[in-house]
Amino acid sequence: MATIPDKEPYIQALNEDWYRPHVSNISMLRLDEVHPVVSGNKWYKLKENIAHVRGTGQAGILTFGGAYSNHLIATAAACKYYNIPAVGIVRGTYAQEVLTPTLQACVHYGMRLVFVTREEYARKTASDYINDLRTAYPDYFIVPEGGANEWGRRGAEAIAQYIPPEFTHVAVSVGTGTTFAGLRNALPEVQTVYGYVPMKNGTYLSEELRPLVPDKHWQLFDDWHFGGFGKHNPELLGFMNDFHALHHVPLDMVYTAKMMYGIREQLQAGIFPKEARILCVHTGGLQGNESVKALLEY
Ligand SMILES: *Cc1c(COP(=O)(O)O)cnc(C)c1O
Repeated sequence: MATIPDKEPYIQALNEDWYRPHVSNISMLRLDEVHPVVSGNKWYKLKENIAHVRGTGQAGILTFGGAYSNHLIATAAACKYYNIPAVGIVRGTYAQEVLTPTLQACVHYGMRLVFVTREEYARKTASDYINDLRTAYPDYFIVPEGGANEWGRRGAEAIAQYIPPEFTHVAVSVGTGTTFAGLRNALPEVQTVYGYVPMKNGTYLSEELRPLVPDKHWQLFDDWHFGGFGKHNPELLGFMNDFHALHHVPLDMVYTAKMMYGIREQLQAGIFPKEARILCVHTGGLQGNESVKALLEY
């Protein structure tokens, strides 16, 4: 397997036809390129968790995810690489009937999958449930869904080192908000951070994030969910194909495509100042396009 990370992230300027005359520059930070499987923000959120498990000599990592989870596959691959036993608690017992490509890959990397009902999965943060898991998997380090813990946030802070001060705005997709929180805390306050939540009513996360990100130069948007988390329509897929044709950047359907779609609408609505220089973080997740690959031209 390729070393992790396999490649340094880099900044790619977008084709200016896409954003002129609205703003001065839009570029993308290509975190999707750091590794073929442990891609994007997932590696940064995992790396401190893995260092912690290795440093404390714990027995393994147990974490949570759905049948298409970028976090689950990244954890499975990273644990394989570091020779750490991994257990994945998967949402929905039906998911074991026909494994998605994501789950097949998890099994391939040696992750032990445990399928639980949606009701049981919903208790994933309840302390009695966590205690039951601790009993069943003694000495495993339990990483919340999406890598959403302090190690995840600390790992995500490292992404800020790739963001030069010339950018006035940083845009990032938000699932749990872990990456967003790490970035907001590590970047200078003058750089505004915008978070794009790809689910309905996602800005409720603002309340959860407020204590973690005390400074005020940030905002979440949830207008571009396209019907909900993981949902898509021909408009979104057409946008992804056009975006790839113009910039040669593959977007993922769940997160980054919705963010870039939203940014395009915000440009047209004039919400950014003309002198804005926007850095959009490509958080990876391209494996999530598997189910629509027949409709994509890349
Ligand atoms: C997981 C993921 C996110 C969300 O990251 P959080 O730290 O949970 O907010 C964004 N983009 C992609 C591509 C992801 O896979």
